[in-house]
Amino acid sequence: MKAIQTIVKNDHLQSCHKVLKDTFGYDVFRDGQLEVIEQLLGGNDSLILLPTGGGKSLCYQVPAMVLEGVTLVISPLISLMQDQVQQLRELGVEAAYLNSSLEFNEAQQVIQSVQNSQIDLLYVAPERMLQPYFLNLISQCNISLIAVDEAHCVSHWGHDFRQDYRNLGRLKHALPRVPMIALTATADIATQQDILHQLNIPDAFVHKGGFDRPNIRYNLLRKYKGFDQVVNFVRQQSGNSGIVYCNSRAKVDDLTAKLKQAGIRCDAYHAGRDNAMRELVQTQFLKDNLQVVVATVAFGMGINKSNVRFVVHHDVPRSVEAFYQETGRAGRDGMPAEALLLYDERDGARIKKWIADGSTSERFAIEMHKFEAMQSFAEAQTCRRQVLLNYFADYRDTPCGNCDICLDPPKMFDGTVDAQKVLSCVYRLKLDTGVQHVIDVLRGLQHRRILDNHHEQLSTYGIGKEQSDSYWHNIIQQLIHVGLLFIDMTRSGVLCLTPTARAVLKGEKQVELAVPKFAVSQGKKDKYVPTNLDNKLFEKLKALRKLIADDLDKPAFVIFSDATLADMTRTQPTSPSELLDVTGVGVKKLEKYGEAFIGLIKDYLAAK
Ligand code: ADP
Ligand code: ZN
Repeated sequence: MKAIQTIVKNDHLQSCHKVLKDTFGYDVFRDGQLEVIEQLLGGNDSLILLPTGGGKSLCYQVPAMVLEGVTLVISPLISLMQDQVQQLRELGVEAAYLNSSLEFNEAQQVIQSVQNSQIDLLYVAPERMLQPYFLNLISQCNISLIAVDEAHCVSHWGHDFRQDYRNLGRLKHALPRVPMIALTATADIATQQDILHQLNIPDAFVHKGGFDRPNIRYNLLRKYKGFDQVVNFVRQQSGNSGIVYCNSRAKVDDLTAKLKQAGIRCDAYHAGRDNAMRELVQTQFLKDNLQVVVATVAFGMGINKSNVRFVVHHDVPRSVEAFYQETGRAGRDGMPAEALLLYDERDGARIKKWIADGSTSERFAIEMHKFEAMQSFAEAQTCRRQVLLNYFADYRDTPCGNCDICLDPPKMFDGTVDAQKVLSCVYRLKLDTGVQHVIDVLRGLQHRRILDNHHEQLSTYGIGKEQSDSYWHNIIQQLIHVGLLFIDMTRSGVLCLTPTARAVLKGEKQVELAVPKFAVSQGKKDKYVPTNLDNKLFEKLKALRKLIADDLDKPAFVIFSDATLADMTRTQPTSPSELLDVTGVGVKKLEKYGEAFIGLIKDYLAAK
């Protein structure tokens, strides 16, 4: 019996390699993919932790096509299901989804095709999955595998807990013999264990592939006139796609207006806009007709767009998981991408107040702990990636070389005199004003509020006039960070001295500060940019892809990913068999688009 099973498994494994090449156009499995697939084929459950873009989906898509019967995929969002199904169909895979967007008749057709095992993959929402009629239906069908995508949603330790997901534990009772695979890109240790427990798969094979996204460059700037910083950053992106996150709808709208003024094709996405508008923004972004989406966190979970080249956080997120997941939407195709976080100590104080005011006592400690970890990331003076990966217990002992700290290490100086200027000014103002007023007095401005209060008569008036407004903002942020100042949120953001400030004022304590930085350092990119790429050909291939995509009313990255076009640029295939060697070109895509791309490359070479 065992021998027969082994033979079957070997056959299956061979089929998996064939599917990988013929359908997906890839030559080899990535680290961990085959191990997980083997477990599933052997009937075992599995939990896979891989970063976004790491290739998790393939771990169930390949066996789904090899095994008889239907693979159920539980996915939290309609848009996510639609994207995945669209991309699979593009590859010639029999996939469908069942959700509230379907008409009754359409849903009936899908159900029939499941009953007849005519499809390989069925995507469903968790709430539908657990409805008695649906459980009853699938118990009569041949279900080969269950995949739970975004599995961290089952755990209240995770950052995106959903009750519908919690109930998925019942599935294992309903279908005890069907192997289950849980997938996530973001789960700390507590969440990982909770996933196994909640889904009733305690003996699952766990594959942790590390959390690193080496192609994403992490940048942090202290926020100063944040909107201008965002506009400047986006301008430098020469047309590349990106997402900008803000923490309120009002900011999203204002920043969108500002970017539009600067000539950027962008639009706003938040829960205050109606569904039709939101959908339009999303599809225009997918189709590269919008360069930038400015959004609240409502945007993104369903975004499978592989060529997002940058993600900006105008406001600091509330957890490292959220930051990691949101920045993770950049560079899914493995090509170079950037993440920029604008950080202001005052935002930190504000968020802590929200957490204190808004959470139940049970959530308070968890939320505060999560935010403090995020703050330590923002305030770190060592490699950002190391801090980030350490948080997920993915320890690295060498700095990454691709973050702002590594590329442009902070230059320290003796900031005692600057600190004394600020601290004594705060003291003279009787600990009764906010940051901006302190700076205005330091710089000797003459506006109404200063004159009305006779602040021009203070001994500290004008003692900092040789430096800019932005300089002092930065210095004050640092003084808050090193614990000499704090912001009293209970008194609308008044700046106060801490007990240690006294020693500095009396000249008993030195203060070391970093020279303020205002722009993202460009640094050496060579390590992460494919070298020798013929940019002219690359652009031509992209233009052809967009033409075909528009004609078919599909997003460009569904036709071919940026990584595939880069490989095509490098290898310049002029025959179908050469094109098949390009990564991401399978049989179906060769059939559909081969001629057009080969034609372009031939013409290009002939004209050279
Ligand atoms: P995840 O679900 O982990 O975010 P995906 O499954 O979407 O990642 O994969 C990210 C990208 O990597 C996709 O374009 C996918 O086709 C590609 N990919 C996955 N596995 C391989 C592989 N073995 N070789 C080359 N590319 C791969
Ligand atoms: Zn680094």
